[in-house]
Amino acid sequence: MGELKRFVLRLTARSPLLIGDRRADTQYTESLDHIPGSRLRAAFARAILSDCPLFDPAEARDGRRWWVVYQGRPECEGCPWATWCRQFEEIRFTQATPGGARILPLTAMGCKVDCGRSGVMDTLLRRLAWQQRLRERPDEDWQPPRFNCVCGGRLENRGGWYDPRAARPVSGPRRQAFTRLMIDPIRGAAAQGQLYTLLPIAPGAEFTAQVEAPAPPPCAELRVGARTTTGWGRCAVVVTEADESEDVGERIGRFQAALEAARQAAGLGPARDVYLALTLLSPALVGPLPDGSPAQLGAAESRAILAAALGLDRLFPGAELAHAFTGYEVKGGWRLSDGGWAESRHYLVAGSVLVLRLRPGDAGELAERCARAERLGIGERTEDGFGQVEVCASYHVSEAVR
Ligand SMILES: [Zn+2]
Ligand SMILES: [Zn+2]
Repeated sequence: MGELKRFVLRLTARSPLLIGDRRADTQYTESLDHIPGSRLRAAFARAILSDCPLFDPAEARDGRRWWVVYQGRPECEGCPWATWCRQFEEIRFTQATPGGARILPLTAMGCKVDCGRSGVMDTLLRRLAWQQRLRERPDEDWQPPRFNCVCGGRLENRGGWYDPRAARPVSGPRRQAFTRLMIDPIRGAAAQGQLYTLLPIAPGAEFTAQVEAPAPPPCAELRVGARTTTGWGRCAVVVTEADESEDVGERIGRFQAALEAARQAAGLGPARDVYLALTLLSPALVGPLPDGSPAQLGAAESRAILAAALGLDRLFPGAELAHAFTGYEVKGGWRLSDGGWAESRHYLVAGSVLVLRLRPGDAGELAERCARAERLGIGERTEDGFGQVEVCASYHVSEAVR
């Protein structure tokens, strides 16, 4: 078995790209603005099996038509996909984002009246300092911070993407509208006057992902997303070796210094502990949660349960989840496509920020743990790009609201 190496995948849409399924209960479907790792895996599975002389689409396995299984037959000798085929389950995909952009953290805010005098700012450090003051001096009256723009107007939450090099917001990919006539599923004819609209990503959009694989994928084109049989989803693929990621130890150090300054501005002395901000770049799939209503739990108790369900206690032994700025979604239930039942699961939304508190220890070992968390993600199904994190992202420091 070959050792896995990290590659950068650059995809350029050559035809409309529809990521995510059309829901049966709406007449309007907009593509996601990024490509989840699971969709990349499905696209590669389709590419491998379409090229494979041993694959018979009629031979469905567990209802999963495009399931890669290495057969080790004479035909596999000299197959360009053989290394991928043999280790397909071990290959790890990140999500593909527009132009390699990152999702804005939930702590990002911008001027409500868009005065143009300040861009998007990040409020994480000030929120941390305020929460820490409340905890360290519980008997004092301390008003929550007011987030105002230099123009005097209020700040409001901002979502979307930013360019990590320039720390500036960037727009997502352009969509293109297609109107189609709905087909009556029973009569098989066009339902009278029923139209639906599809909003795929327009051709020309570029996406960047990383893949950990035994070799670069031997293909220059890939079919991604839905409606590929009608010619949609064609993407040109360019593969390069990934650079070594920058030193996470330096980021951790800069974050401690900036938090120290924010604490000082809130009238607090130096923190005795190390704080690690884990910013989710993609949704995290939370592991099984205990039964019973979390409404009975205190905030610290429920944070501890979340930390365990994300596997943070194994990645960072002894760390406490001290602050959490999160949103979540529950996905699952009855599937409209085939009426089957999918277990409902909790997902933390991309952009969530989890802040761990640790006793100071060996800085080199901590940096190694953080690099590992960035490479392997947190929570479940990280091989499909869930739970990607950046530790002590520079964005929280360089864009911090004053
Ligand atoms: Zn094969
Ligand atoms: Zn303003």
